[in-house]
Amino acid sequence: MVEPTSVALDALRQQIDESDKALLEILRRRQQLVAQVGTIKHQEGLPIYAPAREASMLAKRRSEAEAMGLSPQLIEDLLRRIMRESYISEKEIGFKRVNPDLGPVVIVGGGGKLGGLFAQLFQLSGYPVRLLEQGDWDNAEALVADAGMVLVSVPIDVTEAVIAKLPPLPADCLLVDLTSIKQAPLAAMLKAHAGPVLGLHPMFGADVASLAKQVVVVCEGRMPEQYQWLLEQITIWGARLHHASAVEHDQAMQLVQAMRHFTAFVYGMHLKREHADIEQLLQFSSPIYRLELAMVGRLFAQDANLYADIIFSQPDTLARARHYLDRYQQALALLEQGDKAGFNRIFANVAHWFGDFAEQFQHESANMLMMANDSRSV
Ligand code: NAD
Repeated sequence: MVEPTSVALDALRQQIDESDKALLEILRRRQQLVAQVGTIKHQEGLPIYAPAREASMLAKRRSEAEAMGLSPQLIEDLLRRIMRESYISEKEIGFKRVNPDLGPVVIVGGGGKLGGLFAQLFQLSGYPVRLLEQGDWDNAEALVADAGMVLVSVPIDVTEAVIAKLPPLPADCLLVDLTSIKQAPLAAMLKAHAGPVLGLHPMFGADVASLAKQVVVVCEGRMPEQYQWLLEQITIWGARLHHASAVEHDQAMQLVQAMRHFTAFVYGMHLKREHADIEQLLQFSSPIYRLELAMVGRLFAQDANLYADIIFSQPDTLARARHYLDRYQQALALLEQGDKAGFNRIFANVAHWFGDFAEQFQHESANMLMMANDSRSV
Protein backbone atom coordinates (compact mmCIF):
# COMPACT_ATOMS: atom_id res chain seq x y z
CA MET A 1 0.00 0.00 0.00
CA VAL A 2 1.33 3.47 -0.93
CA GLU A 3 1.25 5.83 2.05
CA PRO A 4 -0.52 9.17 1.46
CA THR A 5 2.03 12.00 1.51
CA SER A 6 2.07 15.72 1.00
CA VAL A 7 4.72 18.04 -0.45
CA ALA A 8 5.55 19.38 3.02
CA LEU A 9 5.91 15.86 4.41
CA ASP A 10 8.12 14.80 1.49
CA ALA A 11 10.42 17.78 2.07
CA LEU A 12 10.77 17.00 5.76
CA ARG A 13 11.41 13.33 5.03
CA GLN A 14 14.12 14.28 2.60
CA GLN A 15 15.82 16.29 5.35
CA ILE A 16 15.50 13.32 7.72
CA ASP A 17 17.12 11.10 5.07
CA GLU A 18 19.99 13.57 4.82
CA SER A 19 20.41 13.65 8.62
CA ASP A 20 20.48 9.85 8.65
CA LYS A 21 23.16 9.86 5.97
CA ALA A 22 25.22 12.31 8.02
CA LEU A 23 24.77 9.95 10.98
CA LEU A 24 26.13 7.08 8.88
CA GLU A 25 29.19 9.14 8.02
CA ILE A 26 29.77 9.89 11.71
CA LEU A 27 29.37 6.21 12.57
CA ARG A 28 31.89 5.24 9.91
CA ARG A 29 34.35 7.79 11.29
CA ARG A 30 33.77 6.43 14.80
CA GLN A 31 34.33 2.87 13.59
CA GLN A 32 37.68 3.89 12.08
CA LEU A 33 38.73 5.46 15.39
CA VAL A 34 37.64 2.33 17.26
CA ALA A 35 39.80 0.22 14.91
CA GLN A 36 42.80 2.41 15.81
CA VAL A 37 42.00 2.01 19.52
CA GLY A 38 41.76 -1.76 18.96
CA THR A 39 45.22 -1.84 17.37
CA ILE A 40 46.75 0.06 20.30
CA LYS A 41 44.98 -2.19 22.83
CA HIS A 42 46.26 -5.22 20.93
CA GLN A 43 49.85 -3.91 21.04
CA GLU A 44 49.69 -2.93 24.69
CA GLY A 45 47.69 -5.94 25.88
CA LEU A 46 44.78 -3.89 27.24
CA PRO A 47 41.36 -5.50 27.82
CA ILE A 48 38.80 -4.82 25.07
CA TYR A 49 36.26 -3.93 27.76
CA ALA A 50 37.22 -1.03 30.02
CA PRO A 51 34.34 -0.67 32.51
CA ALA A 52 35.52 2.61 34.12
CA ARG A 53 36.08 4.31 30.74
CA GLU A 54 32.68 3.07 29.51
CA ALA A 55 30.83 4.27 32.64
CA SER A 56 32.43 7.74 32.65
CA MET A 57 31.92 8.14 28.89
CA LEU A 58 28.23 7.22 29.18
CA ALA A 59 27.74 9.56 32.15
CA LYS A 60 29.25 12.47 30.17
CA ARG A 61 27.19 11.74 27.04
CA ARG A 62 24.02 11.51 29.15
CA SER A 63 24.54 14.93 30.67
CA GLU A 64 25.55 16.45 27.32
CA ALA A 65 22.41 14.95 25.76
CA GLU A 66 20.26 16.37 28.52
CA ALA A 67 21.78 19.82 28.03
CA MET A 68 20.89 19.56 24.32
CA GLY A 69 17.29 18.59 25.04
CA LEU A 70 17.84 14.97 23.97
CA SER A 71 16.74 11.95 25.97
CA PRO A 72 19.76 10.71 28.00
CA GLN A 73 18.34 7.18 27.88
CA LEU A 74 18.12 7.28 24.09
CA ILE A 75 21.76 8.35 23.83
CA GLU A 76 22.87 5.71 26.32
CA ASP A 77 20.96 2.98 24.43
CA LEU A 78 22.45 4.07 21.11
CA LEU A 79 25.98 4.24 22.45
CA ARG A 80 25.72 0.86 24.18
CA ARG A 81 24.58 -0.71 20.91
CA ILE A 82 27.40 0.99 19.00
CA MET A 83 29.96 -0.11 21.61
CA ARG A 84 28.73 -3.71 21.43
CA GLU A 85 29.59 -3.62 17.73
CA SER A 86 33.00 -2.15 18.57
CA TYR A 87 33.83 -5.03 20.94
CA ILE A 88 33.08 -7.49 18.14
CA SER A 89 35.25 -5.65 15.63
CA GLU A 90 38.09 -5.27 18.17
CA LYS A 91 38.09 -9.07 18.48
CA GLU A 92 38.78 -9.39 14.75
CA ILE A 93 42.04 -7.45 15.20
CA GLY A 94 43.34 -10.14 17.54
CA PHE A 95 44.73 -9.97 21.07
CA LYS A 96 48.10 -9.61 22.71
CA ARG A 97 49.72 -12.94 23.63
CA VAL A 98 50.36 -12.62 27.37
CA ASN A 99 52.58 -15.70 27.62
CA PRO A 100 54.95 -15.74 24.63
CA ASP A 101 56.98 -18.67 25.96
CA LEU A 102 54.09 -21.09 26.43
CA GLY A 103 54.25 -24.39 24.56
CA PRO A 104 51.31 -25.46 22.36
CA VAL A 105 47.77 -25.25 23.76
CA VAL A 106 46.09 -28.66 23.44
CA ILE A 107 42.29 -28.53 23.57
CA VAL A 108 40.68 -31.86 24.41
CA GLY A 109 37.25 -31.62 22.75
CA GLY A 110 38.44 -28.64 20.72
CA GLY A 111 36.16 -29.65 17.86
CA GLY A 112 33.10 -28.94 20.04
CA LYS A 113 31.22 -25.71 20.62
CA LEU A 114 33.01 -24.19 23.62
CA GLY A 115 36.35 -25.84 22.85
CA GLY A 116 36.09 -24.37 19.35
CA LEU A 117 35.46 -20.86 20.71
CA PHE A 118 38.50 -21.10 22.99
CA ALA A 119 40.61 -22.52 20.16
CA GLN A 120 39.67 -19.43 18.14
CA LEU A 121 40.48 -17.04 21.03
CA PHE A 122 43.89 -18.65 21.64
CA GLN A 123 44.66 -18.55 17.92
CA LEU A 124 43.60 -14.88 17.72
CA SER A 125 46.10 -14.30 20.55
CA GLY A 126 48.94 -15.99 18.66
CA TYR A 127 49.17 -19.30 20.55
CA PRO A 128 49.74 -22.52 18.59
CA VAL A 129 46.65 -24.67 19.15
CA ARG A 130 46.24 -28.44 18.74
CA LEU A 131 43.00 -30.35 19.05
CA LEU A 132 42.68 -33.71 20.78
CA GLU A 133 39.38 -35.19 19.63
CA GLN A 134 37.66 -38.55 20.13
CA GLY A 135 39.64 -40.24 17.33
CA ASP A 136 43.04 -38.85 18.40
CA TRP A 137 43.78 -40.86 21.53
CA ASP A 138 46.30 -43.13 19.79
CA ASN A 139 48.31 -39.99 19.12
CA ALA A 140 47.64 -38.36 22.51
CA GLU A 141 51.13 -38.82 23.94
CA ALA A 142 52.74 -37.03 21.01
CA LEU A 143 50.08 -34.28 21.09
CA VAL A 144 50.75 -33.38 24.75
CA ALA A 145 54.51 -34.14 24.84
CA ASP A 146 55.55 -30.45 24.65
CA ALA A 147 52.20 -28.90 25.65
CA GLY A 148 52.25 -25.66 27.67
CA MET A 149 48.62 -26.11 28.54
CA VAL A 150 45.94 -28.78 28.19
CA LEU A 151 42.37 -27.50 28.20
CA VAL A 152 39.58 -30.02 28.72
CA SER A 153 36.24 -29.16 27.08
CA VAL A 154 34.30 -32.39 26.63
CA PRO A 155 30.71 -33.28 27.66
CA ILE A 156 30.25 -33.24 31.45
CA ASP A 157 29.45 -36.93 31.77
CA VAL A 158 32.79 -38.03 30.22
CA THR A 159 34.99 -35.27 31.71
CA GLU A 160 36.38 -37.21 34.67
CA ALA A 161 37.11 -40.29 32.52
CA VAL A 162 38.82 -38.13 29.87
CA ILE A 163 41.01 -36.44 32.50
CA ALA A 164 41.98 -39.83 33.96
CA LYS A 165 42.83 -41.05 30.47
CA LEU A 166 45.30 -38.22 29.70
CA PRO A 167 48.88 -39.38 29.19
CA PRO A 168 51.47 -37.94 31.63
CA LEU A 169 51.83 -34.21 30.97
CA PRO A 170 55.08 -32.19 31.13
CA ALA A 171 55.70 -31.22 34.78
CA ASP A 172 55.07 -27.49 34.19
CA CYS A 173 52.12 -27.97 31.80
CA LEU A 174 48.95 -26.19 32.98
CA LEU A 175 45.86 -28.42 33.15
CA VAL A 176 42.55 -26.53 32.91
CA ASP A 177 38.91 -27.46 32.35
CA LEU A 178 35.83 -25.50 31.22
CA THR A 179 33.19 -27.80 32.69
CA SER A 180 29.88 -26.37 33.94
CA ILE A 181 30.35 -28.19 37.24
CA LYS A 182 33.55 -27.76 39.18
CA GLN A 183 34.13 -30.04 42.18
CA ALA A 184 34.50 -33.40 40.44
CA PRO A 185 36.56 -32.21 37.41
CA LEU A 186 38.89 -30.17 39.64
CA ALA A 187 39.48 -33.14 41.94
CA ALA A 188 40.09 -35.37 38.90
CA MET A 189 42.64 -32.89 37.45
CA LEU A 190 44.49 -32.56 40.79
CA LYS A 191 44.67 -36.33 40.95
CA ALA A 192 45.80 -36.83 37.36
CA HIS A 193 48.52 -34.15 37.21
CA ALA A 194 51.06 -33.01 39.82
CA GLY A 195 51.71 -29.67 38.07
CA PRO A 196 49.63 -26.48 37.85
CA VAL A 197 45.84 -26.97 37.71
CA LEU A 198 42.94 -24.53 37.28
CA GLY A 199 39.16 -24.87 37.05
CA LEU A 200 37.21 -22.42 34.88
CA HIS A 201 33.54 -22.09 34.05
CA PRO A 202 32.69 -19.67 31.26
CA MET A 203 29.21 -18.42 32.10
CA PHE A 204 28.22 -18.00 28.46
CA GLY A 205 27.30 -20.07 25.46
CA ALA A 206 29.63 -20.69 22.55
CA ASP A 207 27.53 -18.37 20.36
CA VAL A 208 28.70 -15.12 22.00
CA ALA A 209 30.15 -12.69 19.48
CA SER A 210 32.68 -11.33 21.97
CA LEU A 211 33.69 -11.97 25.57
CA ALA A 212 33.16 -8.33 26.54
CA LYS A 213 31.19 -8.17 29.81
CA GLN A 214 30.88 -11.98 30.02
CA VAL A 215 31.78 -13.74 33.27
CA VAL A 216 34.26 -16.57 33.78
CA VAL A 217 34.19 -18.29 37.16
CA VAL A 218 37.68 -19.14 38.45
CA CYS A 219 38.20 -22.04 40.88
CA GLU A 220 41.77 -22.11 42.15
CA GLY A 221 43.58 -25.40 41.73
CA ARG A 222 47.34 -25.64 42.28
CA MET A 223 50.39 -23.37 41.70
CA PRO A 224 48.41 -20.17 41.02
CA GLU A 225 51.56 -18.26 40.04
CA GLN A 226 51.70 -20.46 36.94
CA TYR A 227 48.27 -19.53 35.62
CA GLN A 228 48.05 -15.78 36.33
CA TRP A 229 48.97 -15.21 32.67
CA LEU A 230 45.84 -17.13 31.61
CA LEU A 231 43.60 -15.05 33.89
CA GLU A 232 45.16 -11.91 32.42
CA GLN A 233 44.63 -13.29 28.90
CA ILE A 234 40.94 -13.91 29.60
CA THR A 235 40.59 -10.36 30.94
CA ILE A 236 42.16 -9.04 27.74
CA TRP A 237 39.52 -10.97 25.79
CA GLY A 238 37.00 -8.79 27.68
CA ALA A 239 35.59 -11.14 30.31
CA ARG A 240 35.20 -10.42 34.01
CA LEU A 241 36.63 -13.00 36.42
CA HIS A 242 34.66 -14.17 39.42
CA HIS A 243 36.65 -16.19 41.96
CA ALA A 244 34.82 -18.87 43.92
CA SER A 245 35.55 -22.21 45.53
CA ALA A 246 34.35 -25.25 43.58
CA VAL A 247 31.79 -25.96 46.33
CA GLU A 248 30.43 -22.39 46.24
CA HIS A 249 30.29 -22.55 42.45
CA ASP A 250 28.39 -25.83 42.34
CA GLN A 251 25.91 -24.66 44.98
CA ALA A 252 25.22 -21.42 43.10
CA MET A 253 24.91 -23.28 39.78
CA GLN A 254 22.27 -25.45 41.34
CA LEU A 255 19.96 -22.42 41.51
CA VAL A 256 21.37 -20.33 38.66
CA GLN A 257 21.49 -23.12 36.07
CA ALA A 258 20.22 -26.57 37.04
CA MET A 259 16.90 -25.44 38.57
CA ARG A 260 16.26 -22.71 36.02
CA HIS A 261 16.87 -25.04 33.08
CA PHE A 262 14.75 -27.69 34.76
CA THR A 263 11.78 -25.34 35.24
CA ALA A 264 12.14 -24.10 31.63
CA PHE A 265 12.19 -27.75 30.51
CA VAL A 266 8.98 -28.46 32.45
CA TYR A 267 7.30 -25.34 31.07
CA GLY A 268 8.21 -26.32 27.51
CA MET A 269 6.86 -29.82 28.17
CA HIS A 270 3.65 -28.27 29.53
CA LEU A 271 3.18 -26.03 26.47
CA LYS A 272 3.54 -29.03 24.19
CA ARG A 273 1.15 -31.23 26.15
CA GLU A 274 -1.42 -28.40 26.23
CA HIS A 275 -1.07 -28.21 22.43
CA ALA A 276 -0.29 -24.50 22.74
CA ASP A 277 -0.35 -22.72 19.39
CA ILE A 278 2.92 -20.76 19.48
CA GLU A 279 1.97 -18.58 16.49
CA GLN A 280 -1.17 -17.57 18.32
CA LEU A 281 0.60 -17.08 21.67
CA LEU A 282 3.01 -14.70 19.95
CA GLN A 283 0.13 -12.68 18.49
CA PHE A 284 -1.22 -12.22 22.03
CA SER A 285 2.17 -11.56 23.59
CA SER A 286 3.50 -8.22 24.66
CA PRO A 287 7.34 -8.03 24.81
CA ILE A 288 7.59 -9.49 28.33
CA TYR A 289 5.65 -12.65 27.39
CA ARG A 290 7.53 -12.90 24.13
CA LEU A 291 10.82 -12.70 26.01
CA GLU A 292 9.69 -15.31 28.54
CA LEU A 293 8.59 -17.61 25.75
CA ALA A 294 11.91 -17.00 23.98
CA MET A 295 13.87 -17.96 27.11
CA VAL A 296 12.03 -21.29 27.22
CA GLY A 297 12.08 -21.84 23.45
CA ARG A 298 15.83 -21.17 23.12
CA LEU A 299 16.54 -24.07 25.48
CA PHE A 300 15.02 -26.46 22.96
CA ALA A 301 17.15 -25.04 20.14
CA GLN A 302 20.25 -26.30 21.94
CA ASP A 303 21.93 -29.57 22.78
CA ALA A 304 19.73 -31.80 24.98
CA ASN A 305 22.83 -33.56 26.35
CA LEU A 306 24.44 -30.38 27.65
CA TYR A 307 21.29 -29.50 29.61
CA ALA A 308 20.72 -33.07 30.75
CA ASP A 309 24.30 -33.12 32.04
CA ILE A 310 23.94 -29.79 33.85
CA ILE A 311 20.69 -30.93 35.49
CA PHE A 312 21.60 -34.54 36.23
CA SER A 313 25.24 -34.10 37.25
CA GLN A 314 24.46 -31.94 40.28
CA PRO A 315 23.85 -34.26 43.22
CA ASP A 316 21.36 -31.82 44.82
CA THR A 317 19.07 -31.30 41.85
CA LEU A 318 16.55 -33.92 42.90
CA ALA A 319 16.18 -32.49 46.43
CA ARG A 320 15.93 -28.93 45.07
CA ALA A 321 13.34 -29.95 42.48
CA ARG A 322 11.30 -31.60 45.25
CA HIS A 323 11.44 -28.41 47.31
CA TYR A 324 10.27 -26.52 44.25
CA LEU A 325 7.39 -28.95 43.83
CA ASP A 326 6.44 -28.41 47.52
CA ARG A 327 6.27 -24.66 46.90
CA TYR A 328 4.24 -25.19 43.74
CA GLN A 329 1.80 -27.31 45.72
CA GLN A 330 1.64 -24.67 48.45
CA ALA A 331 0.77 -22.07 45.82
CA LEU A 332 -1.71 -24.46 44.20
CA ALA A 333 -3.51 -24.81 47.55
CA LEU A 334 -4.03 -21.03 47.59
CA LEU A 335 -5.66 -21.35 44.19
CA GLU A 336 -7.83 -24.30 45.26
CA GLN A 337 -9.01 -22.38 48.30
CA GLY A 338 -9.53 -19.13 46.37
CA ASP A 339 -7.22 -17.59 48.97
CA LYS A 340 -6.31 -14.26 47.37
CA ALA A 341 -5.38 -12.78 50.73
CA GLY A 342 -2.91 -15.64 51.26
CA PHE A 343 -1.48 -15.02 47.79
CA ASN A 344 -1.03 -11.30 48.57
CA ARG A 345 0.59 -12.12 51.91
CA ILE A 346 3.20 -14.42 50.32
CA PHE A 347 3.68 -11.95 47.46
CA ALA A 348 4.49 -9.15 49.96
CA ASN A 349 6.79 -11.49 51.82
CA VAL A 350 8.77 -12.43 48.72
CA ALA A 351 8.81 -8.80 47.52
CA HIS A 352 10.29 -7.81 50.89
CA TRP A 353 12.93 -10.53 50.50
CA PHE A 354 13.86 -9.26 47.02
CA GLY A 355 14.24 -5.78 48.58
CA ASP A 356 15.95 -3.19 46.37
CA PHE A 357 16.67 -5.87 43.77
CA ALA A 358 12.96 -5.94 42.83
CA GLU A 359 13.11 -2.30 41.72
CA GLN A 360 16.51 -2.75 40.10
CA PHE A 361 15.21 -5.74 38.11
CA GLN A 362 12.10 -3.84 37.08
CA HIS A 363 14.27 -1.00 35.78
CA GLU A 364 16.72 -3.31 33.97
CA SER A 365 13.97 -5.42 32.43
CA ALA A 366 12.13 -2.30 31.20
CA ASN A 367 15.17 -1.52 29.01
CA MET A 368 15.45 -5.12 27.84
CA LEU A 369 11.77 -5.17 26.96
CA MET A 370 12.06 -2.03 24.87
CA MET A 371 14.97 -3.60 23.00
CA ALA A 372 13.06 -6.86 22.57
CA ASN A 373 10.18 -4.89 21.13
CA ASP A 374 12.48 -2.99 18.74
CA SER A 375 13.93 -6.22 17.37
CA ARG A 376 10.53 -7.85 16.76
CA SER A 377 10.17 -9.04 13.22
CA VAL A 378 6.43 -9.83 13.32
P1 NAD B 1 30.18 -30.22 22.57
O1 NAD B 1 29.40 -31.49 22.56
O2 NAD B 1 29.87 -29.18 21.56
O3 NAD B 1 31.73 -30.54 22.43
C1 NAD B 1 32.34 -31.58 23.12
C2 NAD B 1 33.50 -32.05 22.29
O4 NAD B 1 34.17 -33.08 23.03
C3 NAD B 1 33.08 -32.66 20.95
O5 NAD B 1 33.88 -32.12 19.91
C4 NAD B 1 33.35 -34.15 21.12
O6 NAD B 1 33.75 -34.80 19.94
C5 NAD B 1 34.49 -34.11 22.12
N1 NAD B 1 34.64 -35.35 22.88
C6 NAD B 1 33.69 -36.13 23.44
N2 NAD B 1 34.24 -37.19 24.02
C7 NAD B 1 35.58 -37.07 23.85
C8 NAD B 1 36.68 -37.86 24.20
N3 NAD B 1 36.54 -39.01 24.87
N4 NAD B 1 37.90 -37.44 23.86
C9 NAD B 1 38.11 -36.29 23.17
N5 NAD B 1 37.10 -35.51 22.79
C10 NAD B 1 35.85 -35.90 23.12
O7 NAD B 1 30.05 -29.65 24.06
P2 NAD B 1 30.21 -28.14 24.57
O8 NAD B 1 28.87 -27.52 24.60
O9 NAD B 1 31.29 -27.48 23.84
O10 NAD B 1 30.62 -28.38 26.09
C11 NAD B 1 31.94 -28.76 26.43
C12 NAD B 1 32.19 -28.39 27.88
O11 NAD B 1 32.00 -27.00 28.05
C13 NAD B 1 31.23 -29.08 28.86
O12 NAD B 1 31.96 -29.45 29.99
C14 NAD B 1 30.26 -28.00 29.23
O13 NAD B 1 29.78 -28.16 30.56
C15 NAD B 1 31.13 -26.75 29.13
N6 NAD B 1 30.36 -25.54 28.84
C16 NAD B 1 29.62 -25.47 27.71
C17 NAD B 1 28.91 -24.29 27.44
C18 NAD B 1 28.06 -24.15 26.19
O14 NAD B 1 27.21 -23.28 26.15
N7 NAD B 1 28.26 -24.95 25.16
C19 NAD B 1 28.97 -23.22 28.35
C20 NAD B 1 29.77 -23.34 29.49
C21 NAD B 1 30.47 -24.51 29.74
